[in-house]
Amino acid sequence: MQPVGLYIHVPFCKRKCAYCDFFSAAAKNTEEYVRAVIRNIKAAGRKYNTVYFGGGTPSLLKAERTADILAAANISEGAEISVECNPDSADFDYLCGLHSAGVNRISFGVQSLDNSELAALGRLHDADKAIEAILSAEKAGFGNISADIMLATPMQTAESLSRTINALLELPLTHISAYLLKVEKGTPLSLDSALLEKVPDEDSTADMYLMTAKKLSAAGFEQYEISNFARKGFECRHNLKYWRCEEYFGVGPSAHSFLDGERFCCPADTEKFISEPLQERVFLSWGGDPEEKAMLALRLTKEGLPLADFPEAEKRAEPLLKSGLVKKEQGALRLTAEGCLVSNEIICRLIG
Ligand code: SF4
Repeated sequence: MQPVGLYIHVPFCKRKCAYCDFFSAAAKNTEEYVRAVIRNIKAAGRKYNTVYFGGGTPSLLKAERTADILAAANISEGAEISVECNPDSADFDYLCGLHSAGVNRISFGVQSLDNSELAALGRLHDADKAIEAILSAEKAGFGNISADIMLATPMQTAESLSRTINALLELPLTHISAYLLKVEKGTPLSLDSALLEKVPDEDSTADMYLMTAKKLSAAGFEQYEISNFARKGFECRHNLKYWRCEEYFGVGPSAHSFLDGERFCCPADTEKFISEPLQERVFLSWGGDPEEKAMLALRLTKEGLPLADFPEAEKRAEPLLKSGLVKKEQGALRLTAEGCLVSNEIICRLIG
């Protein structure tokens, strides 16, 4: 059987960030949680060539427990094994523990290196802590370190974002994800009108995104997806599976899977996940049809949508090519940085 990706959701956070609507709560019963994860991995009987611990805050599990999970999984030689870490809960000893367990990629939720922006987002760490965590990861032996940043957050300006990026470029990073802040309904941020007033407007947001793409590419971080930039050879292999419509198995409450053509998820209920012999499998849809593949392929700015697979897109792309929102290269349609800003509309026009 072909190896697939393995996603492990760790639904624990010390405190909820102001903007977050991911499924997570205070850490409790973590030992039972790990046992349930292991049970599900063993029952699936698959082989994995990428593993990704996401959350929540995977760094709230002890490194030994992460090692236990990895030891229970059938993992191919040379697999990419990533753990998302919060700078607040990833000290040198913990990172050494992950490294000895076989983890080879760390992804830090940095978000900003401006302390007032971090406070407005409700992050637990400050800029110094984030820098210290990245340097500790390098010292612990990691050669593949990613940082997430957020654009268009309350109080952020082009200058403060530029300072954050400049400081990140001084650090031993191989990958940077830059996400536009989305104000999700029901989050503390969505209910805080004073803070919402400090969110940059649409034009400033667009300028910040374009500046980020330009600065990162000038520094050798090539854009390969709408929100992702990497040094050559350091694209996240696990996340590429999502956009290439390849298979993965998700373990844990709220985790999604795509296996044998079926998209399904586990309900967002940690107690239930722990107590049931195996996680519930809720059918979502059949996946992998040509439209879905095309939609995901368009997100990949380096690969793009192969016209051989979707010839009808060529005619539809003409006005977009003229306006510089897409480009045609090596038989594929690719979004430009400007096109990335209106990707949903472009996807609808080419595929819808
Ligand atoms: S640490 Fe991550 S998952 Fe947890 S609340 Fe903050 S943004 Fe959400």
